Parts: sequence; C-alpha cells; structure tokens
Amino acid sequence: MQTAAPSLTSIAGPDAADGDLTPDLLARRARQRRQMLGMVALSYVVDGLILLIYAYAGSTPLSTAPAYVICGLLSVSSFWALSETRLNDRFKDHYFVVQQSSVSLVIMLMFLYIAPEVGCVFLCSLFVIFAFGSLRSTPQQTAVLWTVMTFGLAALFLMTDKPIDMPNNTYIERLATLMVFVMTIGRCMFVGIFSSSLRESLYKRGIELREAYKRIEELAELDELTGSFNRRSIMRSLDDEVARAHHTNMPCSVALIDLDWFKKINDLFGHPTGDEVLRTFAITMFANIRGIDKFGRYGGEEFLLILPETTDQAAERTLDRLRAIIADLDWSTFSHSMTVTISAGVVALQPNETPDSVLARADAALYRAKDMGRNRIIKG
Ligand code: GH3
Ligand code: MG
Ligand code: MG
Repeated sequence: MQTAAPSLTSIAGPDAADGDLTPDLLARRARQRRQMLGMVALSYVVDGLILLIYAYAGSTPLSTAPAYVICGLLSVSSFWALSETRLNDRFKDHYFVVQQSSVSLVIMLMFLYIAPEVGCVFLCSLFVIFAFGSLRSTPQQTAVLWTVMTFGLAALFLMTDKPIDMPNNTYIERLATLMVFVMTIGRCMFVGIFSSSLRESLYKRGIELREAYKRIEELAELDELTGSFNRRSIMRSLDDEVARAHHTNMPCSVALIDLDWFKKINDLFGHPTGDEVLRTFAITMFANIRGIDKFGRYGGEEFLLILPETTDQAAERTLDRLRAIIADLDWSTFSHSMTVTISAGVVALQPNETPDSVLARADAALYRAKDMGRNRIIKG
C-alpha cells in the first residue's frame, strides 16, 4: 500500500509559493513524486503477490489479486498523470498525500467488502496508509480520514455479516498471513525511519541556518579586510560606551589611530601588501588589547580604539605600548626594508560630552601627532 518513501529532501523540501519555484526545484519535486508513486505501486504489487499465495491456497478467488493490483495501479497512474501536468505544484502538499491516502482508504474498504476472506491484508494496509498519511496531513485532515475509515469499518463490521478473516488453516495460508504481518510491520517501520531521518535532516538544516545567520550578522558587523569592527559597528559601540560611561560615571578613553605614510607603503610594496600590513596591524592590536576594549576600522588606514573604564593617562600609556609593539614588529617578511609605525590622538571623555565631540578632539590630537613628526601618541 501507500508506503511512500521519497528521498529525504522531498517532504522536507520548502513549500515555496508559486513564484519561488525555480525550474530546478520543479524538476526535483516531479522526480521525488515519481519516486514516491513508484514505491506506492511496488507496495500494491507486494500485496498482490501475497493475495496470489492466498489464491494458490484456495482462500480467495484467483481474480482478487489482479483486481486489487489493477485498482492500486490505476490510482497510482492517475496520480502520476496528475503529477506530470505539474498541477500538484500549485498546492502546499504537492504529493497529494491526503488525496492518495483517501483513495487508498476507499480501495481497502472496497476490497474488505469484496474479499473479506482475506480481510487481514486490507486491514493491515490501513496501518500503512495512516502511517504514511501522518507524514504530511494536518490533524484536521487526519481526523477526517480517521472518521471516514471508522464509518467505513463500522458499516462493514456491524451492518454486514461479512466474515472478515485471517486465513491460517493450511501451511500456505499461514505463510501468506505471516507475510502480511511481516510486510505491514516492515512498511510501517520504513515510514517511521523515514520520518525520523526527516526530523534529523530538518534539525541539521536548522543548525545550518543558525550558522548562516550568525555569519551574516558577523559580516554585517565586521570589516572584511581586517576582521575588526566595521565603521557602523564601532560607531555604535562608541555611542553605547559614551552612554554607559555617563551613566556609571566611569572614565572612558578614545583613540584615533592612523598608520604613518601608508600611501608610501602602497606605492613601494603594492596594494596587496598594503592590505596584508593592515591585517597584521589589526591582528597585533587585537592580541594586545583587553577583552572590554573595542577596536574598529574608522576608514582606510584609520582605526578607532575605545577603552572603557580607562583614564587618559592609562590610555596614553596603553597607546604608547601599542605604538612600540607595532614599530618593533618584524615587518621584514613583507620586505626587508619595510617599517610600519602608527600615530594616535587619545582623549578621555568629558562629563556630558557627545560621541561626536570626543571624536573631534581625538582627531585634532591625531593631527598634532602627525604634525609633530608621526610615530607618537598625543593626548588631547
Ligand atoms: P599619514 O602619515 O599622513 O597618514 O600619511 P598616509 O600616506 O598614511 O596618509 P593618506 O591618508 O594620504 O593615505 C592613506 C592611504 O591609505 C591612501 C589609501 O590608498 C590607503 N588605503 C586606504 N585604505 C586602504 C586599504 O584598504 N588597503 C590598502 N592597501 N590601502 C588603503
Ligand atoms: Mg596614514
Ligand atoms: Mg589617514
């Protein structure tokens, strides 16, 4: 019966709106539907073979098996034809799981009526139908299916005197009945395994999605070249830290740092080397500042360092230490003649001072540092 088992991505696939469906996705969906319908057809054939064994044992007429298989295959081919028209893609459940389950349910009830002497085959198939149906149907749809099934079975069991049976008188009959159970349990397990691997794949997708979002957030905050905060992010940090310092009455210092003669570095060693110098500078800075300090690219080869809970004297000492580290760094891996130095203007936040004002004072101090010969820190 309907032990549909399309590939994992199938039922896990997005229920894209019509407009989102690319030709690739449509082709994949059609392939998945064919796969599933193939499994359903196979399921009918397996049941048909069991019915043939029952027929061989004399439990049911020989016509039961072909009639059942023909009904099943007619249903499968109708859904197949429908699938090929691509009409399915207009629906949220493009597999038509509920519709297929309903048709299968009718077939089972019909054959329970026609061939009650081998009723166990069709009763057991109901388990498979519901296991399969529950993969996609909503609780309401399941409730409708269940109600239809209940009324159908009630009509058969209570309103007719059909001898719904499970043949087990002869060895062949017992063998066929054993196969009914084994195949039913096998198919239910298959659907169960499918749904758990589906859960697993959805879980993995969730993790991948979270990681992708995290990466997007990082990209939005970080400068691509240096890995330090980008201008937008460091300016936001400046606003936050200024507000926090005013609120807590704690000192806060800000430094604008600029690489000296950087244009010359580009001109002499090339732009790609200039990029590497910027990266190395940023990494060195990160390695030598505290966790609470915020370091970001203000623009070009100019960087902003925010030092929360730091007085101007302490900030000046820190900046001078950083200046010495950069100047003493072995830049000969880039070129034996290369030296890199920085200049910085450092200021402490004044009471009630705005971020713009503190930045302007740091910039003025930086300008003086450049003016006084570079490779130096000037306190504003
Ligand atoms: P000063 O000591 O006065 O700061 O001199 P300078 O040459 O560093 O100053 P200027 O502002 O004139 O030059 C900055 C140079 O930095 C110019 C620009 O090409 C270079 N630059 C800015 N951004 C990048 C970058 O992302 N990569 C590289 N390689 N160079 C950059
Ligand atoms: Mg410069
Ligand atoms: Mg500059």
